[in-house]
Amino acid sequence: MSISAHTKLTAVIGNPIGHSLSPLLHNDIYAREEVDAVMLAFQNPNIAELVAAIRSLPIHLTAITLPHKESVIPLLDEVDAKALAIGSVNTVVNTNGKLKGYNTDVVGIAVALKDAALKGKSVLIFGAGGAARAVAYHMKESGAKIHSYDRTLKKAQLLCEKFGGTALEAAALNGMQFDVIVNASPVGLHPNTDATPVPKEMIRKGGVVFDLVYNPLETRLMREAREVGAQVISGLTMLVEQALEQERLWLGREIGNAPYYVLLERELNKQHK
Ligand code: NAP
Repeated sequence: MSISAHTKLTAVIGNPIGHSLSPLLHNDIYAREEVDAVMLAFQNPNIAELVAAIRSLPIHLTAITLPHKESVIPLLDEVDAKALAIGSVNTVVNTNGKLKGYNTDVVGIAVALKDAALKGKSVLIFGAGGAARAVAYHMKESGAKIHSYDRTLKKAQLLCEKFGGTALEAAALNGMQFDVIVNASPVGLHPNTDATPVPKEMIRKGGVVFDLVYNPLETRLMREAREVGAQVISGLTMLVEQALEQERLWLGREIGNAPYYVLLERELNKQHK
């Protein structure tokens, strides 16, 4: 579809934003779904300036990334209850100048974990930032027993105060195993691909390992989980599913299946050549 005076602007905003896959993914969705829109990336450390731009241009759908997922909240007209409970907004829909915030990461997490049994299972959430809170929200809803670890103990304790569970110090992790391990930290992210959040011995055969990191496509944690015989879930599933949900919220209709995973896998492979 060619760009015209009718083409609507959508955006991903953050700081930095140079490595975002969102423009590639959302513009592919627009092409396949015949949506007359274009997504561009805007980098700015000042969230108030970005929100002013959303209102004035206007930007119809905005994907929010680090470091603005929390600081955007007080600048919006309305925030969805789930996003408020998580304390993180990754999506803003602009309806005739009224800005409403949502959290679609939690939808991506739910789809990624749809085949994993969670009720009554012991779960380790490694990292206690914004993404971890969305994981914890889903785990609480699913009746899992949450264990939280972060190198900043206070953050793990705050997460457990909010969603229930046990905050663990590094020493307490020694020798423990969990039914489900979720890496919600940047450990293992490119270029630090030799790093892994937990020792291989902590992974249970037949357990579930979900790595939110999707760059590289197979992290050391995922490789070791496969070797042990655990079910492995990639952060790429979450990335695609949370983006599809963003478009559903804006467009108010279903978005069909398409090879979006292949598109992103190809792009990530290209970046590493
Ligand atoms: P965040 O808010 O910065 O949180 C990261 C947390 O991990 C922080 O609490 C940080 O602690 C902790 N951490 C960092 N290094 C650690 C280490 N070595 N040991 C223990 N804890 C450590 O980031 P986020 O938004 O939650 O994102 C977390 C990860 O998820 C990132 O890798 C991001 O790329 C990924 N993610 C993926 C998706 C997806 O769609 N697949 C979506 C969102 C996020 P400190 O505060 O002490 O640094």
